[in-house]
Amino acid sequence: MRRVLTKKKLVAVAAAAALSFGVGGAVVFTEQASAAPSDPNAQTTIFPVVKYGAQGDRVTTLQYLLRASGQGVAADGSFGPKTQQAVRNFQSRNGLVVDGIVGPKTWPRLLKVVREGNRGDAVKAAQTALRAAGHRIDVDGSFGPATRQATLAFQDARSLDTDAVIGPATWGALLGAKAPAPSKPPTSGTKSPGPDTRYPKPKGKYPNGEVPANQLCQVPGSKSSDYRMSCRAVPDFTAMNNAYRKEFGVNLQVDHLDRLTTYRTVADQRVLYNMYLNGTGNLAAKPGTSNHGWGIALDLNMRRNGAGSHQSRTYQWLNANGPTYGFNDTVPSEDWHWEYHR
Ligand SMILES: [Zn+2]
Repeated sequence: MRRVLTKKKLVAVAAAAALSFGVGGAVVFTEQASAAPSDPNAQTTIFPVVKYGAQGDRVTTLQYLLRASGQGVAADGSFGPKTQQAVRNFQSRNGLVVDGIVGPKTWPRLLKVVREGNRGDAVKAAQTALRAAGHRIDVDGSFGPATRQATLAFQDARSLDTDAVIGPATWGALLGAKAPAPSKPPTSGTKSPGPDTRYPKPKGKYPNGEVPANQLCQVPGSKSSDYRMSCRAVPDFTAMNNAYRKEFGVNLQVDHLDRLTTYRTVADQRVLYNMYLNGTGNLAAKPGTSNHGWGIALDLNMRRNGAGSHQSRTYQWLNANGPTYGFNDTVPSEDWHWEYHR
């Protein structure tokens, strides 16, 4: 999938000057949203285009918002046929163009204002988006003190009104939270070559954690062949690493820890899962379900250029450029975990 957020695909909507709150808490944006705001302090809201095939936290946020609007859809972070149908149903009921694509017209209709004391799927949507922005809160559907604190911190960091209410401006910033690119986008010379079709798409072709050795390749730039990923992902990873090196002068790094940063066998996953259950390890997927078991997940060193965090230069660069190469941060609580889906 591609969650590409190049300037071309982004739709910038000058929002704050043109919106109001509707009854029932829904956010109402006016239709002439592309007009330039006359208020110099108006926020510019950037709505991503999300459609069939997309995955990740933004899709989960969307699914919770669909649920909050009465559409029965699972919040699994994967934009499949059921999510597409739910979007179509929602669009149809709201007099929108029924194309199953969530863009600048559909997002504003889906958004709901949430604040302390609120409960339900709209709160889960906001919590998911806050987590994606680096705030470690539970997605429990209850807007309590922790969510309030995270909202205030997010608003403060984005120079928004710190009122702890997730209204239009804050929603806009949350949805666009993955969009701003502090570093230059890759030049046309470092264009992604796309997946290597000599290798089958790893996910689903083999049992998880039992990918044949001849489908696994050393991660480019790593110190040994212990660090393996799906060969199919190597061309895109190489192009991404080249662009990163051009910017920072060093490679993206996976060999700062042991080989478990890369491909994991079922046995590897079992060890990590037990550590997680014992409370001695990080969050780990059930054995046989980790995307490390397909060779499409990499735990990258986020301390490559300074301290690790969602605010680190490496994270910000990957966040802005990774999707161009098919790599996305799919675990909001883990800035280091990047997955290839193409
Ligand atoms: Zn990982």
